Parts: sequence; C-alpha cells; structure tokens
Amino acid sequence: MSAMRHLLDLCKRRGFLFQSAEIHGGLRGAYDYGPLGVELKRNVSQEWWNSMVYQRSDVVGIDTAIITPPAVLKTSGHVDQFTDEMVDSRLSKERFRPDKAPALKLVDQDKVLPISAPDKVTAKVWEQDIRTQFAKGALITRKGKEILLQVERMEKDKIVLKKDTAAGTTTSGEPTDLHIPYHGYVDPNSNSPFLTESRPFNLMFKTYLDPIDPIDKVITTTLDAQKSPSTSDLASTRQLVDKTLLPSLTYLRPETAQGVFINYATVQRSHPHLKIPFGIAQIGKSFRNEIRLEHAIFRTPEFEQMELEFFVAPWQAEEQFVAWRKFRMDWWRYYGRNHDRIRERPHAQDELAHYSSGCVDVEYLFPWGWGEVEGIANRGDFDLSKHSEATGIKLQYTDAILMQERQVREKATGVKETSVEVLAKERFTPHVVESSCGLNRAMLALMLDAMEVVDEQGKVIPFPGESDNNSSNDNAIVSKGVRTIMRLHPRLAPVKVGIMPLISNNKDLVELCTGISQSLRQELQVNVSLETQSTTIGKRYYRMDEIGTPWCVTVDYESLQDRMVTIRERDTGEQRRVSTEEVVEIVRDGLRL
Ligand code: ATP
Repeated sequence: MSAMRHLLDLCKRRGFLFQSAEIHGGLRGAYDYGPLGVELKRNVSQEWWNSMVYQRSDVVGIDTAIITPPAVLKTSGHVDQFTDEMVDSRLSKERFRPDKAPALKLVDQDKVLPISAPDKVTAKVWEQDIRTQFAKGALITRKGKEILLQVERMEKDKIVLKKDTAAGTTTSGEPTDLHIPYHGYVDPNSNSPFLTESRPFNLMFKTYLDPIDPIDKVITTTLDAQKSPSTSDLASTRQLVDKTLLPSLTYLRPETAQGVFINYATVQRSHPHLKIPFGIAQIGKSFRNEIRLEHAIFRTPEFEQMELEFFVAPWQAEEQFVAWRKFRMDWWRYYGRNHDRIRERPHAQDELAHYSSGCVDVEYLFPWGWGEVEGIANRGDFDLSKHSEATGIKLQYTDAILMQERQVREKATGVKETSVEVLAKERFTPHVVESSCGLNRAMLALMLDAMEVVDEQGKVIPFPGESDNNSSNDNAIVSKGVRTIMRLHPRLAPVKVGIMPLISNNKDLVELCTGISQSLRQELQVNVSLETQSTTIGKRYYRMDEIGTPWCVTVDYESLQDRMVTIRERDTGEQRRVSTEEVVEIVRDGLRL
C-alpha cells in the first residue's frame, strides 16, 4: 500500500478528511475536514500566522473579499493571462495540461483504468514517440522507484513487460506481467493521443451578482441576436451576451494576493507607523477551475492560501528575496522532520513572469515525486504600478524622514535638491517580495512527513518505494502488530493530550480525568480528548499515536489517593509518574516554540 493510500485511509477512518457530500455521491475535488482535520489545518495556519505576523513587527494582517470585480483581475492580468493550455484525451475523456500530460512516465496506480486499448501500439504519446521508447525499453516509475523495463507486448488492458530487459534492472521477485494503466494517452489511430488541439483555458470561476438567472439572460439575448442578420453569427452573438452579462460579472478570487495590493494605500493610511520594508499577510480561500484535480487535497478547485506581500524599496528587493527564502525554508524545516524531503527549486529564466526577477518553488517530496507547496517571488513593482495605472491612484511610498531631512538641508543651504537620485529615494513605487503557500498542500505534506509505520518492536517499516529492499512491504504495512505513529510537531497536533481512566466506566477515575482535562483546557486553551473507550490502555495509546497526540495521561486507582498520574510521551514511549499540576507544566513546556 502506498504512503498516500495509507494516509487517506487513516484520514477517513480517524476523521481528518472526508469526501464532501459523500452521502449524495460525492463531488470530485471537494473535501470536508473532520474534527481532527480542522484542528490540524487551523494549527498549520496559526503557526504560519504566528511566525509571519505575531513574531514580527513589520507585518500586519488583512482579510479581503473573495468575490472580486473584473476590474481588479483585468488589471492584474488574470482575465487575459491566467490560463492553462488544455487538451482532451481521446481514450479516457480526461483533460490534461499538455505539460502535465503523463507521457512515458507510467505510474503504478494500484488499479488498472477501464479503457479499451488496441493490441498493437503504433501511436505516439504527447511529445514523444512511444514506438521508439518502447523499442528501447520504457522508463517506468513503479511505486516511486525508477526501474528500466522493456515492453514485451501490448494487451487489451495492460502493457506486458519483459522480466529481464536489455537494461536488466528489474528487481527479482517482480511479477512478469505488470499491469500498467494507460491513462488514456495511447492512441492507435493517430499521431496524437488528443482530440483537440491545445487551447487556452481560463482558470477563474465566474459568478454573477444578479437575482436574474444569467442563463435566462443568455437565452433572451441569443434569441434577440438571431433576429437580425448583422448579429446572428456566433462571434456577434457572443459579444452581445458578454455585454449583457458584464454588469453583474464577478470572479471568485484565484489568489488572495490581489486583495492585498488593492488595499496597499488603505492599510498604509490606517497604519502610518508602517515603514518600508513592511508586509501584509492574508490567509483565505482561493478558487481555480483546475483542468485536472489530483492527489486528494494537493490540487482542488477550492483551497486556502497563506500569502505575504512584502513591500520593499527597489534597492532592497534582492536582499529581501534572499532573506524571505531563508525565513520560509527555516519554517518548513522547523515543522518537518525529513529535511531531505524539502527543497528549493529556482525557476529557470523562461519560467519567470516577464516582470519577475526571481522565483523559487518550495517543493516537498510527495510519494509521487517533488511537488510545489509554496512559491517565493521577487515581483518587482508590477502589481502596484498596474493598479495605479488602472485607477489613477498613486500607490507609492513616501519616506517622510528623508523628505524632512532634505527640507532641513535645503533651508540651511538655500539650495533646492532636485536630483532624480535624491527624490527617487524619497518617493517610489514599492517592489514586492511574495511568499505564497497552499494551506491544504502544506497540511498534506506535513502529515506525510510525520507519518511512520512501525512493527511490534517499534522498527520503522518503509512504504513501498521508500527503500531498496521492500518489495514485500505491501503486506507488511497492513499485517498484525503494525501501527502508525503520526510524529507531528506538538504545536501542529490536533489533540494535544489524551486523558484516559484505567477503567473506563469507573466514575471516580472519569471524574479525576475530567478535572485534569478542564485545567488543561482552561490554562492552556488546548484541545484535549477524554479517551473512555473500553479497550486496553495500550490500544488507547496507539490510537492517540496514530493521530499524532504528543502526550497521554492515565489515571489509575492510586491516582485517587495521591493525585499522581502517568504521563506518556508519543515519540519516546517514555512513561513517568507526575502530579496533576505537573501535567499542565509539561504540556505548557512542550508547546513552547
Ligand atoms: P501549480 O503549478 O501546482 O498549479 P501554481 O504555481 O499555480 O501551482 P501558485 O499560483 O504559485 O501555484 O499558488 C501558490 C500556492 O497555492 C501553491 O504553491 C500551492 O501550494 C497552492 N495552490 C495553488 N493551486 C492550488 C490548488 N488548485 N489546490 C491546492 N493548492 C493550490
């Protein structure tokens, strides 16, 4: 079982994540966060907010509207340019971004897609000639591990691979017939696996602020247009429809950043003490009509972003870009355990937006490969300049101290200082360094990072693909005695303390447990859980480990006499006898940054 499958099972079973509207058949890409998921997500966003806003004197927060007028997104370039290229697959009816279309990288997905494929492949896959590749031996990533295999023959619903290939790298014990799903990109009759030519597709969701159903308006306008020969062609009809709908058209924001840019002046005016460099942070929902939804909450149409726009003088931009990269990487390393699974990937020159002078993706090594969790960019003055141009409102920064100093000098010398350099230092359009992190992706990465499966002796069992010698792990992961520990940072853990009476139905024990949980709730404002299931203490500990609870407290009969309880630490399994007051102090200490 793959790490992702294991995690998603756990998430559903323990109440982190549910398919939204499941009882009505579900909705692709829509997820609900259960009682534990909501806590974890809040904790991740709280830790971000804490480090970005509370722990700094140069950042303030904001919370702006989701529904956005077209003028904002026209100005930012989203209306015209926030597009992906889209192609339709002939075989599976799926849609792909050409750059994301799975060419020859065949990934074992645990299940074969039900498609009818030909006996012989005489086709091309997107951008690559499959015949050539197959003749040489196709590169296949199986369960995260790269092995070179040669295709022996194609069958109706599978690709049969030779066990020993020319490259000879199949591991022993590997089945001869690997079932590799086609993903619908192999087409017997065409040079291209796609139906359509690649075409741009805007990712923004439109919505209409109007009590009249826009479809009614479209129908009426179209019927009217058909009556006149001058407007009955498709292009003219479309123009008329757009014109009719325009007054009520709005968008669901595709990022939170624009809400910050359009409030640059209002925040500055209301907080005159903010001197450049300073930042505005925002956490909130964004929406993108993604062509392909993938990997559960990794890519969904509705998601949350944690974004910081840091306004700097032009000559500070490079230095601040470097500083923010370090600051954010430190954050990731602080909350993550596997530092080799987090990296920075600088964008190549041709990936950069024309206005940007630098951009890096922070990437996490997910079970399917490296994936972006955050982007950090040096955006120049593009954002404020564009909004300023469009509105005629100057979005500039004036350094009052420098200005005053100049005025004093001018008074003293009687000479006016008019040089461009002096004035440009006093008043300028700020440049922006941006950090844009996906909250849901961060949560997914942090959960995968924390998740460990151990055997009865506490020895870690790697997931298939995570070590060289683990072909039998599929069974090992689910065998008896094997359990999962979620080694989340205590500040992220959804439940901080599990409190359990030794005998679950003993009134006195439960009463003492309730007292301890009340003190923890009141003194530390943390989420605690009273574990009164009638199972053994060991099983209850393991249930707490599985959801990442850093401490468990057990109350037994002796506790009733001496007010001493057993506290157990998740990561070491160590147990100590402490007083009920000490429990609060231990947890308080453990939650310190
Ligand atoms: P990708 O290339 O994966 O589509 P992106 O480069 O378009 O991402 P940005 O526009 O830089 O993403 O958005 C910043 C962050 O928002 C991303 O790093 C990611 O964590 C998150 N994000 C973007 N799109 C989605 C989505 N559809 N679902 C979940 N998170 C997303």
